[in-house]
Amino acid sequence: MSESFKAILITRDDENRQSVATTELTEADLMDGDVTVAVEATTVNYKDGLAITGKAPVVRRFPMVPGVDFAGTVVASDHADWKAGDRVILNGWGTGETHFGAYAGRARVKGEWLVPLPTGLTPREAMAIGTAGYTAMLCAMALERYGVTPAAGPAIVTGAAGGVGSIAVSILSGLGFHVVASTGRMSEVGYLKDLGAAEVMAREELSGAVRPLGKERWACGVDSVGSHTLANVLSMTSYGGAIAACGLAGGMDLPATVAPFILRGVALLGVDSVMAPKPLRVEAWRRLAADLDRDKLAALTTSIGFDGIIDAARGIVEGKIRGRVVVEM
Ligand code: NDP
Repeated sequence: MSESFKAILITRDDENRQSVATTELTEADLMDGDVTVAVEATTVNYKDGLAITGKAPVVRRFPMVPGVDFAGTVVASDHADWKAGDRVILNGWGTGETHFGAYAGRARVKGEWLVPLPTGLTPREAMAIGTAGYTAMLCAMALERYGVTPAAGPAIVTGAAGGVGSIAVSILSGLGFHVVASTGRMSEVGYLKDLGAAEVMAREELSGAVRPLGKERWACGVDSVGSHTLANVLSMTSYGGAIAACGLAGGMDLPATVAPFILRGVALLGVDSVMAPKPLRVEAWRRLAADLDRDKLAALTTSIGFDGIIDAARGIVEGKIRGRVVVEM
């Protein structure tokens, strides 16, 4: 029998009450897949917080090992693209939701879900970036594909002190945008300016009643909040601008009017990371490895051990986590 390893397991009882605990598993407990990976680093994303607290129905099969992201080394492979010793990253594809995920010493997954760890990134750095950072890059790439440039005007980032937000601020400022960072934590003004924000605005300015059109304040942006915040962001986007929307930290609704779309030609670009096709993932990771400022990445990252995952998951849904959390296994 193979050696056991630590894992977090979410279970549900007969009355649909969810509980979470640390346990020991062996490779025989893992789900089907053609590549087995020794997990070296993982992270805590907002979605992992929702899964572990049960605040939203992220987990769709019980019991479940949560964790949507990992970086590690292949230990066994029946997939043509991978061999033992290869260093890989996994983001999404239903891991931690329908397929056993990252919070375990080993993971068995489909080879087609993996991307190579880009040269120049360590597993720890890859997880400091994680799904949040890879999604921030997908948002930046969506804006670029749409044709927005820094010359068009400022870029707004909402939920700026969170994971997606912090990395979006770094990426967009690195690309030359004048970044306006919106946060509920004005105590983090210094942190956000160090990441590259040119201006910081209070969350309340965007969370109130939505007017069909407001003063034109930015040409583009990355929204990780949704709800009133995204509706207000759209109403303040300048003529021909575009907003990449990826999150719902403030709510899943969108109490907007069509005015920004039909009177200012504003575009709303939806961004999904979970099922994003492989070429887009590989390009996003290539760009992250090449372009993301490592000093800024280090400044926005906190490290925890495996035993800190559950507390960090609770903290992230309460909006208490700044930037990104890396779990060193
Ligand atoms: P974090 O918790 O790290 O960041 C979210 C930030 O949103 C918080 O730090 C806070 O920023 C702000 N926020 C939280 N609650 C509220 C609120 N009620 N009203 C307004 N702002 C709020 O999470 P992540 O960065 O990991 O994820 C952000 C969002 O993006 C989540 O909804 C997540 O599900 C989504 N996401 C989507 C992906 C996709 O594929 N589409 C992939 C990755 C993430 P501040 O303190 O600065 O105000």
